[in-house]
Amino acid sequence: MAQFECTEHMESFLRELPKCEHHVHLEGTLEPSLLFKLAKRNNITLPESFPKSVEECTDRYNRFADLQDFLDHYYIGMSVLITENDFYDLAMDYFAKAHSDGCHHSEVFFDPQGHVERNIDIDTVIQGFHRACKDANSKYGTTNKLIMCLLRHLPAENGLQTIHSASKYYEDGIIHGLGLDSSEKPFPPELFTECYAHIKTNYPGIGLTAHAGEEGDHTFVSTSLDLLQVSRIDHGVNSHQNEELMKRLATQETLLSLCPLSNVKLQVVKDVAELPIAKFFEMNVPFSINSDDPAYFGGYILDNYKAVHTRFGFTMEQWKVIAINGIKGSWCDDDRKQELFELVEVVYKKYAVTIDA
Ligand SMILES: [Zn+2]
Repeated sequence: MAQFECTEHMESFLRELPKCEHHVHLEGTLEPSLLFKLAKRNNITLPESFPKSVEECTDRYNRFADLQDFLDHYYIGMSVLITENDFYDLAMDYFAKAHSDGCHHSEVFFDPQGHVERNIDIDTVIQGFHRACKDANSKYGTTNKLIMCLLRHLPAENGLQTIHSASKYYEDGIIHGLGLDSSEKPFPPELFTECYAHIKTNYPGIGLTAHAGEEGDHTFVSTSLDLLQVSRIDHGVNSHQNEELMKRLATQETLLSLCPLSNVKLQVVKDVAELPIAKFFEMNVPFSINSDDPAYFGGYILDNYKAVHTRFGFTMEQWKVIAINGIKGSWCDDDRKQELFELVEVVYKKYAVTIDA
């Protein structure tokens, strides 16, 4: 249903435009090629029903029957991650790809509970990811932050224990945020009030976010704002159902981290064109565009930008506003934000001037 052309000039502009990613699960960046490599390295026998080659795997990922079908593959994928080096390699592959897509700042999710329940030490997970964040910074000049997510299908007490076992990483500034993911509807935000309150009280500088309004309705978004006191909402697509909420998001400048291609793959909408992105833009609700689980959903950050462009035909001026909102809503310091604002201006001038000439 693409209505607008993404010309070569526009594609180069979108690639070069300094982008920030706020919604990507590192475990969801496990490409089939790395999956098979790690399975071999760790002597893991994949289930008989699992695809046997990179090609078969890619093909299978193109036709998930539903959310559960995706999750089944996702958890088998996770089972090949064993050592600190595995977590490091996974994150480095993502940072390399994000860098080649023109992403300058990434705030990445990880799910420690999904590893701890497989008897992997939480330190192994965090140290591998943290080393990759540092190395990506020196190799590519990108800035990167880790956001620990709690799996909402597990009890809140388990979430609280996970926060306790990661406490030294919050204290040392190695983890920068708390998030909430996994199946939304049966596990509303209010179940996790205590987990969020604990972080807010003990680590006041830590960013708070939560997946809300993807399969849940707009009340999941307002409850996350009211009870969990998050400053950002992951997805938040269903916010458009309530005018008051939309005004609130605009006034408070609460960033929604949208994931267009993921929404299509998981059948939130049939096509990117159905997403209320134009409405968010018109009502000044800030949003960023992200990849969610790119190895499974067929696209990294630039693919998502292009998909939005071909449906909404934003002008370069409008794309500049989107990039600026992404920087404003990031959890990097003011100096880094200033650097990125200036870079946006440079890229915008380079491309907008070429068009005028
Ligand atoms: Zn997500």
